[in-house]
Amino acid sequence: MILAATLGFLLANSSSTGDAAPASARQTIRAPHLLAATANSAPTNVQAPKITTFYQGESLLPVLVGAKYLADSGIWRSTSSTSYSVQWLRRHKNGALKNLTGAIAIVSHERPLTVPSSADGQNVIAHVCASNLSGQACVDSSLSQSVQTVAQYNSAGCGYRRPAAPAYDNNFSSILWPRALGWYPCQTITWALDTFHQPALSGSTWPAATLAALAQIHQATGLVFHQAPNFSVRPHGQNIRAPRGVQVVIGFTPQNNEVGVGGVTDSSQAFATAGIVLLNSQTKSTFPWDQTHALETLLHELGHVVGLGHPVAEPPAFDPENEIMDPVLTTFTRYQPGDLCGLYEFTWRQPCRGANKVTLGKGRVGQGAH
Ligand SMILES: [Zn+2]
Repeated sequence: MILAATLGFLLANSSSTGDAAPASARQTIRAPHLLAATANSAPTNVQAPKITTFYQGESLLPVLVGAKYLADSGIWRSTSSTSYSVQWLRRHKNGALKNLTGAIAIVSHERPLTVPSSADGQNVIAHVCASNLSGQACVDSSLSQSVQTVAQYNSAGCGYRRPAAPAYDNNFSSILWPRALGWYPCQTITWALDTFHQPALSGSTWPAATLAALAQIHQATGLVFHQAPNFSVRPHGQNIRAPRGVQVVIGFTPQNNEVGVGGVTDSSQAFATAGIVLLNSQTKSTFPWDQTHALETLLHELGHVVGLGHPVAEPPAFDPENEIMDPVLTTFTRYQPGDLCGLYEFTWRQPCRGANKVTLGKGRVGQGAH
């Protein structure tokens, strides 16, 4: 209530301040969205504040826990210098307004609202107040859909695809929780092989090895993959350009120290929308690709594409390097318990069997390399 006291009046909607936000969370935004006015009076709203997504190009809906939004000040008519504050509220089903205190109560372009799990089932509202020497007025803008958890959203769409939860195993890391970058399990993920620079593979073919790896991901997650025709349109030295509609590309490029790299390359809302795997095309500098090595590498790099980071063992724990996702060469040709728990948790945002909550990701951007 520091801001209201300083300005000498109370917030217009006192019911909205039931849980007072900490003073540090109240931030004044100076935005000259003003129209001239003649009489001395509190500001009057001309155009309501607009809520936008924090990440450019994302869609406003659905409103999912973990999604990030921003609100502008709207346009106001005012007689004197005006300042703005934006407070995020949630509207209970019974109509009462509550602060999203403890999450993010105020936003500016540097301070997005991350929809907290406490807003589940409710509507998030941007409560924007304009203050001048004569008084203060507030106006609300809300998103047109109530907040869902990602798990609710997934289950409503294609919950029947969710496999039985594997046993909990803590030896995994998902990338960038809560914007976890798993894929929305209700879509079909289209992939294609870029055969440019494709090296020889003894005992198998690259499409067969990729299909074998994706079959394991399907089994662990319920994600459905569709193979688009191979392509090879890359001029020498140029980056891969996926054909329209292809979301995941498996390609080949010379690499000195890695057998492959992989990761998410684009996302929308809480989900990944594009990814790439680049395998080393130079067999001489490493060793010949064979069936086992190709499958292990594809499982690892596609694991990054669907959202897994490397397992992060925190001191004093010793990383046993017993997962496909460990950044070392293994002889595994199947995902291991930690891999399987990770694949399940970040796809469905549901805990593995024996755990009571989803494991927060520790993986960072860039950790998906190799
Ligand atoms: Zn890796």
